[in-house]
Amino acid sequence: MIHATQNITQLEFIKSSKADNFESPDFYEIDDLLTEEHKLIRATVRDFVKKEISPIIEDCAQKATFPRHIVQKFGEIGAFGPTIPEAYNPNGGLDYVAYGLMMQEIERGDSGMRSTASVQGSLVMYPIYEFGTEAQRQKYLPKLASGEYLGCFGLTEPNHGSNPAGMETHFKDMGDYYLLNGAKMWISNSPYADVAVVWAKNEEGRIHGLIVEKEMEGFSAPEIHNKWSLRASITGELVFQDVRVPKENLLPNISGLKGPLKCLDKARYGISWGALGAAMDCYDTAKRYALEREQFGKPIAGFQLIQKKLAEMLTEITKAQLICWRLGNLMNQDRASTAQISLAKRNNVDMALSIAREARQILGGMGITGEYSIMRHMMNLESVITYEGTHDIHLLILGNHITGIQAFK
Ligand SMILES: Cc1cc2nc3c(=O)[nH]c(=O)nc-3n(C[C@H](O)[C@H](O)[C@H](O)COP(=O)(O)OP(=O)(O)OC[C@H]3O[C@@H](n4cnc5c(N)ncnc54)[C@H](O)[C@@H]3O)c2cc1C
Repeated sequence: MIHATQNITQLEFIKSSKADNFESPDFYEIDDLLTEEHKLIRATVRDFVKKEISPIIEDCAQKATFPRHIVQKFGEIGAFGPTIPEAYNPNGGLDYVAYGLMMQEIERGDSGMRSTASVQGSLVMYPIYEFGTEAQRQKYLPKLASGEYLGCFGLTEPNHGSNPAGMETHFKDMGDYYLLNGAKMWISNSPYADVAVVWAKNEEGRIHGLIVEKEMEGFSAPEIHNKWSLRASITGELVFQDVRVPKENLLPNISGLKGPLKCLDKARYGISWGALGAAMDCYDTAKRYALEREQFGKPIAGFQLIQKKLAEMLTEITKAQLICWRLGNLMNQDRASTAQISLAKRNNVDMALSIAREARQILGGMGITGEYSIMRHMMNLESVITYEGTHDIHLLILGNHITGIQAFK
């Protein structure tokens, strides 16, 4: 039972008994729809999160430090680009359900950690694999897969977030190199990144992807401080002042906004699973607490209002699990549309944020402390509901799909 005794405060008791005992709900027996390989991958990543992330993450978030050593460890467990073929990633060749389950488990630990993994896999490795030359694939993908390199993805600019088509970052053809100028904002991983996939306009105003390396002269990536959200993830700018980018660093097989948007489809798919993980963690924590915590002479789990919260959480988690599983199978068949991915990202992140808020209330005053993960998840999800297309932008994508009329402008 969670209560203070004469010799020990409630906080000290919780600290002394703290362990990550997470178990995921599976009310509709969705595990029956997974392969043995999926379940093994999920169990491996869950163990990894319990051993490597849960013990340190609260401290990292409180101190706003990125646990840099985790990059190599993610590489070791195959969390970077698991759907990239094995020729470029020894841990690759997995399907999209496996990738989704990995993101679920990592974000169950922390959304910032999942951000690091999904940026590397979906926004850096995917475009190099899909739009790059064979030489670019060979040069970058194995190092990104192993965690030797950390990558970042530069699309958003100070003046252009929801409308990336307006981007100002541009490059000029100087004969034997490109000259890149401009700035990107809100870039996950950027201060520590070895390589950046940067989207910029050529002299005709056409968007292209360029691989920029950290040593290139005129390139810097200052950190953005004072975040109340994703505090264990590092975020920064990308500044390009007359950066000479070798011509072989242009991604040749794509041009236009569809390049970055195709990458975002992959990453948003991962987010829809990741948010589910954060929601599961909040639900599991609140359920355990409610069964232990006594008020008015009985566990608070015995009160109808608490049961209502828990029952609604389980309902929403179950619906989100089914969305993820089905979307994963559509991804495997290359049939998932941008609008279907928008629905999943939008629904699941909003669902996770609502569950975090309700779960926080179940923990009463304890819910605001760092002794439990809920408040951290809640603050993290405020970024997740904004990045990779805001909640409202995904609604407009769906509205466009339904009506055939764009309401962006
Ligand atoms: C922690 C963090 C990490 C990030 N990581 C990356 C990264 O790695 N790479 C990257 O490129 N970007 C990244 N981003 C940027 C993120 O994708 C943008 O913040 C997001 O796309 C929104 O852009 P904005 O912040 O400029 O908001 P704005 O576009 O200015 O939007 C502000 C508000 O206006 C609304 N709005 C805008 N247009 C419309 C419209 N037509 N109709 C109705 N409402 C509208 C939006 O929904 C929002 O509510 C990150 C952001 C954060 C916070």
